[in-house]
Amino acid sequence: MNNSFIDYPFDQQHIWHPYTSMHHPLSVYGVASAGGCELILDDGRQLVDGTSSWWSCVHGYGHPALLEAMQTQLHTLSHVMFGGITHEPAIELAKQLIGMTPKRLTKVFYADSGSVAVEVAIKMALQYWQGRGKPQKQQIMTIKQGYHGDTFAAMSVCDPDNGMHTMFGSSVTPRLFAPAPQAGFDKGLSAQDASALRAMFEAHHQESAALILEPVMQAAGAMNFYAPEYLALVRCLCDEFDVLLIADEIATGFGRTGKLFACEHAGIEPDLMCLGKALTGGCISLAVTLCSDEVADGISSSPAGVFMHGPTFMANPLACAAARASMALLQRGDWQAQVAAIEEQMQTELAPASMLSTVTDVRVLGAVGVIEMHERVNTELMQQGFVERGVWVRPFDRYLYIMPPYCITPAQLTKLTSAMVELASSGYTGPGKPSHG
Ligand SMILES: *Cc1c(COP(=O)(O)O)cnc(C)c1O
Repeated sequence: MNNSFIDYPFDQQHIWHPYTSMHHPLSVYGVASAGGCELILDDGRQLVDGTSSWWSCVHGYGHPALLEAMQTQLHTLSHVMFGGITHEPAIELAKQLIGMTPKRLTKVFYADSGSVAVEVAIKMALQYWQGRGKPQKQQIMTIKQGYHGDTFAAMSVCDPDNGMHTMFGSSVTPRLFAPAPQAGFDKGLSAQDASALRAMFEAHHQESAALILEPVMQAAGAMNFYAPEYLALVRCLCDEFDVLLIADEIATGFGRTGKLFACEHAGIEPDLMCLGKALTGGCISLAVTLCSDEVADGISSSPAGVFMHGPTFMANPLACAAARASMALLQRGDWQAQVAAIEEQMQTELAPASMLSTVTDVRVLGAVGVIEMHERVNTELMQQGFVERGVWVRPFDRYLYIMPPYCITPAQLTKLTSAMVELASSGYTGPGKPSHG
């Protein structure tokens, strides 16, 4: 049925995988093809995908509308530089994005990955204050347990403990961290979280250009869900103390949390927003940073007079075409009922895990389901257990979690949730090798 041959020894000896060692690489599974919500392994096994390939593949694999858009674009204009040139895919996608994101966001910067979109947002915030005559505003505030990418500025605002701060020492710019909000999505704003946040603004607003956070759901850092009221307070404090708000919606954007954008849970508008991951429906890398007229005006009034960034593959037409097709699918609106159904089913089917002595918490928001374990999981053994049960789930730290494609069927989802509940009591925890990826 498939003719692919995976040269595993070569892979082990020569190819880096995410967050792994060349001495002791974690096992990898050869994928020959993928379709709908399934990955087909090299040996013919079919796995129901619980990861959407890290939040990106929201419409499933090989969606005909996405393939067709890319095929057409491939033959017309697959790439051209963006300096001094423009093209229809970039213009039409920007129109779609401006139309669907919060009103205030009217300017689009095309980047090639999420981390770069975060770098761009941080640079924009710094240049904005230069243009407003406050060049001393150079610092960035954030909250603990976040994840914003692996490049240096992005890394600096990741959680200082789970992140890579200690590994890279003084090469990572020190940032201002408020404690991670702890209450949970529907528990409201705790007085403690609120006062810690206000204290940070009071002490540091004069030196702070922006606060960056993942709205409502901290994803890859800690799978932490927090109250929309907290996000609303952040918006108020940013206004009160003259600090820009950067919403990093790279994981949460495009319906994942039950709203098109997670900011909508709190009814707030950020000054800058980063999008990536699901932007192209998981077909190809593309990210954007959107900003308001006010931010763009500040940057353009800065001493430099221009925004200083321009990736080689900026606004790649092939990626823009995939994103346009993905936006068109979202605009049909089926995702709303799909995500709501996934949420309800996960709530029912993951609930039994909360009775297990190995489990600290079970939480579901939108199309994201998490079982938090007492102890760090052994990624290798857990992953093997999942593959044996016919599903693809990639646990990290103390979290078994899924964020399946929106088109998953109830039967496929049950396969995922029952494997999670079974493995939560498996004892595949403890020392093992830590893994982030
Ligand atoms: C994945 C992620 C990033 C980084 O995106 P890459 O495309 O991997 O560089 C940044 N922020 C958030 C919230 C993410 O989930």
